[in-house]
Amino acid sequence: MPSYVMTEKCDGCKGQDKTACMYICPNDLMALDKDKMKGYNQEPNYCWECYCCVKICPQQAMDVRGYADFMPLGAASTPLRGSQDIMWTIKFRDGRIKRFKYATRTTPEGSIKPFEGFADANPADLNNEFLLGEPSIMGATELLTIKK
Ligand code: SF4
Ligand code: SF4
Repeated sequence: MPSYVMTEKCDGCKGQDKTACMYICPNDLMALDKDKMKGYNQEPNYCWECYCCVKICPQQAMDVRGYADFMPLGAASTPLRGSQDIMWTIKFRDGRIKRFKYATRTTPEGSIKPFEGFADANPADLNNEFLLGEPSIMGATELLTIKK
């Protein structure tokens, strides 16, 4: 079931050009009502309940009514992101609460150098079929190709 905005908590990301939920939604579903300064899901039918908007919302103003395959019927599942981990709070319909905390990274935030160890980009590589770092990143010296 799709995401929804708790309007009493949403501050429209303080009127920035793009709200956090608009920025993160992989399906471009979130929009901002500039008159009311509230975010909303403009196409709930296309929401795949990925929870990205719920995780990123700085006001914790978004939620998803989850399916019973990952949380009990009638429960609420609320994520709280930290820099090194994420905590999921599950509130059951009988009022019980359980919390689960998972590490989300093993290195300090901002410390990863994405292209470390790769050779500089070579424009001529645009004409071959390999992805960056192949074949060595696959642990091979050569990838199978169709010989012409
Ligand atoms: S990210 Fe949260 S606070 Fe910002 S517009 Fe979306 S629902 Fe509102
Ligand atoms: S749950 Fe995922 S697909 Fe649905 S509105 Fe939020 S970010 Fe978009």
